[in-house]
Amino acid sequence: MSDDLIDDKAPIRAPLCPICRKLVVKDYRPFCSKRCADVDLSRWLGGVYAIPAREEDEGDGRRTDDDLT
Ligand SMILES: [Zn+2]
Repeated sequence: MSDDLIDDKAPIRAPLCPICRKLVVKDYRPFCSKRCADVDLSRWLGGVYAIPAREEDEGDGRRTDDDLT
C-alpha cells in the first residue's frame, strides 16, 4: 500500500555520475564518461581518499634563486 506513495511522488531515478553529478552514460556506467571513470579509479589507486593531495601544491613552484645577490 505504501508503494503507491513512492510511485506517485518519486520521479524517475536518473543515475548521476558520482564524480561530476552529470547524467550517467550507459557505456560508462556508473559514470558519465571515461574521464570520470578514470578519475574515480585514480582516486582509489592513488589513495586520494586517505591523503589530501593539496598541500604539496605549494613550495614546489617557487625557487629561491632570485634571492642570491
Ligand atoms: Zn562525470
